[in-house]
Formats: sequence, C-alpha cells, structure tokens
Amino acid sequence: MKRIALTVAATALAAGSYGLLAPTAAQAQQQFVTVGTGGVTGVYYPAGGAICRLVNQGRSEHGIRCSAESTGGSVFNVNTIRQGELDLGIVQSDVQYNAMNAVGQFADAGPDEELRALFSLHPEPLTLVVRPDAGIESLEDLKGKRVNVGNPGSGQRAAVEILIDRLGWSMDDFELASELPSREQAQALCDNRIDAFLFTVGHPSGSIAEPVATCDAQLVSLEGEAVDELVEENPYYFNAVIPAGTYNNEEDIHTYGVGATVVSSTRTPNDVVYEVVKAVFENFDSFTSLHPAFDILEKETMVSQGNSAPLHDGAKQYYEEAGLL
Ligand code: GLU
Repeated sequence: MKRIALTVAATALAAGSYGLLAPTAAQAQQQFVTVGTGGVTGVYYPAGGAICRLVNQGRSEHGIRCSAESTGGSVFNVNTIRQGELDLGIVQSDVQYNAMNAVGQFADAGPDEELRALFSLHPEPLTLVVRPDAGIESLEDLKGKRVNVGNPGSGQRAAVEILIDRLGWSMDDFELASELPSREQAQALCDNRIDAFLFTVGHPSGSIAEPVATCDAQLVSLEGEAVDELVEENPYYFNAVIPAGTYNNEEDIHTYGVGATVVSSTRTPNDVVYEVVKAVFENFDSFTSLHPAFDILEKETMVSQGNSAPLHDGAKQYYEEAGLL
C-alpha cells in the first residue's frame, strides 16, 4: 500500500551526483493507491478513472499515484480491501451495509470493523435488459428463461440472489442462470446465448447502450410485491426510475436500486484518503463532467447518504474543513 518508489529514489541519487535539485518531499514519499472498480463497460471503471485522474493532477504536491483497476465488482472489492490488497474500492451501498453488519454473503466473515466510507456516488437501479424476441415484459416472465445473474463477487449477483430469494425462486427456475462478468453480458445477449441480464449499474452506461445499439435490446420495469417489500424493509434500497429516452426506452422504466459508494479501510492512511476526497470535492465540476451518470451528484448528499460504514478519519477531516460536516 505505502511503497517508496524506487524510480524516484534512483532519480534522487542520480540528481545528487550531478548536483541537481533534490526531489521534493512529495516526490521522495511517493505512494501508490489502487481503486477497485468493476467491468470495463460499467460505470465503476470510468468512475475510478475519474477519481484517479483528479488525484494524479495534484501528484507534485502530495506524491500519490492513483490507478483504477477493473475487478469482479462490489463484493470482490470489499473482500480485497479487507485482505489489504486494495486501498480503495467502489461498492454498492447494500454490499457496504452487509459487510458492516455481517449479513448475506458476509455472514461467515463477521462484521468488517475496519471498513470505512468516503462518499457515495451515482444511483444504480437494478436494470433488466432483454432481447426484443425473448417475450419478457415483466419480472415474472424471467421464469424459464436464460438469464445472466452476474459473476460471483459482483454486486449485481448479490442483488439478484436477494431478489430471487424474495420471489421464492431459485436459480433452477431459470432455463439457464449464466455467471458472465458484466463486460461479457451484452455480447452474450446479442449472440442469443442469453435472453436477459439483470445489472445494478448507473445510467447511462456503455454496458446497456451497447446491446441497445447492436441488437435493439429493451429495458423492462421491475415491479410487484417482492420489489415493494424489499424497498420497504431495507434501508439501502429505493424506488428508481430510468427516464424515457435514456436509451431506446420510450417510457420511464420503474425499478429499484442501490447507490454506488467509495470505501476503504482504516489501514488506508488518513493523508491518502484526505487527498483523494479533496481532489474530488475541490474539483467537483471537473469530476461531475467526467461521466454523465455524475450529473445529479451533490456534495452534501454524497457525504450524508448511502454510507453505512463510519466515515474514514481522512475524509472526515476534509469534510470538517470544507464545512460539509
Ligand atoms: N454495481 C456493479 C457491481 O458491483 C458494478 C457496476 C459498474 O461496473 O458500474 O457489481
């Protein structure tokens, strides 16, 4: 996590021998941080890239080199941060909550006492995308179909499992429950290897725009008793609308969803988290212009909503200075 960059040390030695200026403290103390995201066609990956781009702009002052890594998604990110192999990660708010409270896929691991929240990002409606010839017009119609439920480790998969459970279904109720990672599901849909996929993702997203453009994929609303109950019972679920015209949808799509959040561990140093949060919040207009899913973001909401883990001390320090807490 905190590594002294050998290249900088070597440059310093060389500079010394030629009588050049010594490196600044920030250069000598270069730190590498990695942000775990999701599949490359989703929103997490460009979101991680946007965060890192702004952090890296200030590198000469703070010495942090940030990179975004494509990963299997939310659950993978939380687990990998817990193991100390990722510094930061983007995760669904339900996954953050479950990790904190040792429920669902985290039941065996116990509460993640070191998990810390930085801020929340865009909403992620659970989005049902179907082939136009699949005969799927509602959630019920998914029974007996070939559905991509997401790779293990994705937040998508976690959300689908909860929904299926609430419907009283099992994976056997699908003709096929494929476990493709998000970057492969659009192609599978257009190749007629699956009839539908369910994806928790921000909008607009390349992962949806691609099959819409390639094979006229359609969005279908997710409604009914099971959905209403899930929203009522769980603090991290909310009713969501994907507005008409976001893709090829002539009508609003009604569904429910979670929020994307950025997390780290108590082991991620305060100064690193402080600089990451500061880079995003002090360059807020640049940040929100880096992806259309960020258009609706507001600083106050990002600090106050969707974060069930305690705020990281480095983030808290910045929010207090900025008057956001
Ligand atoms: N919410 C998805 C997950 O955790 C990822 C969405 C994205 O890549 O934008 O698996």
